[in-house]
Formats: sequence, structure tokens, C-alpha cells
Amino acid sequence: MIYPERLLKELSSPGRRGVILPQMDVPESPLPPEEYLREDLPLPEVSELDVVTHFVRLSNLNYGVDTGFYPLGSCTMKYNPRVNEQIAGMWGFADIHPCQPEETVQGALQLMYELQEYLAEIAGMDATSLQPAAGAQGELTGILMARAHHLGRGDHERTHVIVPDSAHGTNPATAHMAGYEVITLRSDPEGNVDMLHLEEIMGKHVAALMLTLPNTLGLFDPQILKIAEVVHQFGGILYGDGANMNALLGQAKPGQLGFDILHLNLHKTFSTPHGGGGPGACALTVKDFLAEFLPEPVVALQETEPRYTLTRPHQRIGRMLAFHGNFGNLVRAYAYIRTLGPEGLRQVSENAVLNANYMQRRLRDAYRLPYDRRCMHEFVLSAVRQRAHGVRAWDIAKRLMDYGYHPPTVYFPLIVEEALMIEPTETEAKHTLDDFIAALLAIDAEAEGNPEVVQAAPQTTPYGRFDEAAAARKPKLHW
Ligand SMILES: *Cc1c(COP(=O)(O)O)cnc(C)c1O
Repeated sequence: MIYPERLLKELSSPGRRGVILPQMDVPESPLPPEEYLREDLPLPEVSELDVVTHFVRLSNLNYGVDTGFYPLGSCTMKYNPRVNEQIAGMWGFADIHPCQPEETVQGALQLMYELQEYLAEIAGMDATSLQPAAGAQGELTGILMARAHHLGRGDHERTHVIVPDSAHGTNPATAHMAGYEVITLRSDPEGNVDMLHLEEIMGKHVAALMLTLPNTLGLFDPQILKIAEVVHQFGGILYGDGANMNALLGQAKPGQLGFDILHLNLHKTFSTPHGGGGPGACALTVKDFLAEFLPEPVVALQETEPRYTLTRPHQRIGRMLAFHGNFGNLVRAYAYIRTLGPEGLRQVSENAVLNANYMQRRLRDAYRLPYDRRCMHEFVLSAVRQRAHGVRAWDIAKRLMDYGYHPPTVYFPLIVEEALMIEPTETEAKHTLDDFIAALLAIDAEAEGNPEVVQAAPQTTPYGRFDEAAAARKPKLHW
């Protein structure tokens, strides 16, 4: 597909208008002081039709969960049910203001309270904050709380946080931002935590171990109880990166496995929309002994009245976000949990794990499977065999776009060479999985017989290959 040149032309033309402002219905207010005013404001001057066609065209270039299969490992790109949107759009949720008096928003507070309780129940924890805007911010919230906990006991000796070598990059970044030095924990040949290494590096200088379970290789570490014991023995906090709970939902509770803190990405497991830097939402769940450090506000129920109120935990770490969290997405996550119920949530994890194992089994002859064991909600392949023909994971990802798919995550986790990380999620039908498997097998055959076509992909997109970092960091914006 060639991107038509005429669509790259500047559309702005002096004097063209796309808006009709209504009659002013508020008193005119005086202009700000002279020094804050400017003569010239270079905004595009375009018609309404120009604006509509421009944005509809851009939206058609985008690939989303409503366009097709999106197996982006670790990101859980599952279907966002429409019923969630309907409920989030109800005026009692959509049109309220965060500064309204509490007695006028009791329904919204009730929803937040019940969501706090549901998520604590799912995680096997005691208390929840709905503040964080996304997973990474949830991690920072949790590690700042762990820090406040240690300092609150007069323990000033803890300077380090342990992070496994398979971890998501946000984990070491979080530890560093919270003021800790990171110690990297090795994985063993099976893809589990290397217990000897953990015992060697654990000590009273360690504030926390940040662990993802199942880990980002999609593997459940059966040593979890022993890991928790080692960390707790030295007074450390076991932090759970529960960004993705798709394998454990209704099956196991991290709180019972020994985790003290767990964050949950509502935009992954709980089906609320992701967005390019857009409206994520995260919940932080903790054990009782940490509840007093939760950021404010937390919704409480005064049983006697009954009345829902916003409260400030005793030793809180402050605020992580303005107002009450990303409320629209809290409504969507609540709708999702209530629609499915406990039985439905259990089926989510069963089907997510089944789908991933089905694909893993069907692909492991063509692609190298570095950890050949049962996976959880996702699995990691390696394109080292294809590399022998000059085709890399990167090329395979690009070629999948020609077949009409969003690529999987590539080159992560870092401990797998030429990694292709695939997460089908539970919402996809078997025929979709079969079609995607067929595409990956076809690309494997191409890698052997016709590697040039894979190396030159994508051919069907408006642009081929370009510097993606520069495109994101130094965009050339124009109209
Ligand atoms: C997605 C993810 C994160 C980060 O979540 P964001 O919402 O993108 O900040 C952290 N850890 C793991 C394991 C993840 O998959």
C-alpha cells in the first residue's frame, strides 16, 4: 500500500473555519495582563470536513483490539466488552465531578468501595488503593510503601531491591526511582528463580524482592513458598508484579502464596482499554500490616449510617494521582467483574492458559521453544533457527503485519535470544489461533525458501521500516 502523497499536504488555509461558536451565555471577563497575550497563534485553519476525514483516515491506519488478533505478550490485549462502555457512560458515572460533596456521589463511592473489596478478595490481600494510573505507577506506589514501612520501624539499613533477570523493565526502573539499588537475580535453566543465588544475595540490606508470577516467560515458579520464606526471614517485603493476573484469576491468590503487595493492571486482566499513553488504571492490594501506608484517598464504609466516605490512611505516602484514580476505568473493571462473577473469572484463566498452551504446542516444531514445559497465559519462542537463514525476530514481527496481524512482543524477556513473546488471551476463538499459527508456519517456510521477502517486510503498510525511536521521540508534526 502506498500512502497517497496528496494526504501529506498541508491542509491549512488562512480564514478557513471548522467551528461555529455558540452565543456566549456567561459574563465576559477581562483579558489577562498584556504580557500574557500574543498576537500570533499558529493553529491549523481547516474545515469541519478536513478535520473529520483527517482523523477518520488516521483511525483507519491504527491497529487495535477491535481490528484483529493482537498477541502482544505481557500486554494482555483482550477484548473490551461493550457492556462496560455502556455502564461507564451512564450519567451517574460519566457526568459527576470529583469535587462534588460526598453525599451526592454515594453510588460512585459504593462502586469504588466494592471494587476495592473484590480486588482484595481476588488477590488474597486485605486492603486496596485504586489510585495508580498504570502498572508502573502501581509499582512505584508499592515500593514507596515498602520503604515507608521499613523506615517507620526505624530500619534505615535497607538500600537494595532484588529483581529477577526475566523481569519487566519497569521493575528495576521503579526500584531505582524509589531510591534503591537493584540487584539482579538469576533464573535457573528451567526458567525459575535460581534459589542458591537468591539465598546468596538476600540479607538485611534488601528492602524487597519484586517478583512476577507467572514470570514473563509465562512460567509458574513452583518454589514460590520457599522464595517467600527466604525474603521474609530477613524482614524483606515480597512485592508481586500482578500486571497480568490472567493465569491466576480464580485459581490461586497471591496473598496466600506469600506476597505482601500486589498491583493489578485493570487495563490488562480486567478488560479496560489500553491506550497509547492513555487511560490505564491500576489497583494496589496489600496485606493488613501495610494498609496504613496506602496513598489517599481510600473509600471506607461507615456501617452505622451506612455511608461511604473518602479516608486518609494513617501513615499514607501522599497522593499518586489527582482526585480518586481513573474513575471511568474503575467503573469498567467493576462491570467486568460483576458480569463474569466468580465462576466466569475462573473460566477466564482456564481459557487463557488453554489457548497459550495450544499455540505453544503447535509452534514448537518450527520455532525453538527455550523452556519446553507447560506455560501459563503466554509463552516465549526464539527465532534462532530462522536467524540461521538471515531472518530475525524483528523481521518475523514485520512480516506478520503483511499477514494482517499485530506482531507479538519481541526481544523481551531479555534472557531469551531472538524472543517472540505470544499471549493469545482467552477472548480469541480457535479459528483465530489456527490462522495465526498458519501465518507463523508460513513465515518459517519463507525464512528458509525466500528470506528476502521476510527481510523486506512489511509491504502492505503505508510505510515500511523506519527509526521507531525517532518517530516516537522526534515526531514531525504538521497540518
Ligand atoms: C504491563 C506490565 C507492566 C507495566 O504496566 P503499565 O500499565 O504499562 O505501566 C509491569 N509489569 C508487567 C509484568 C507487565 O506486563
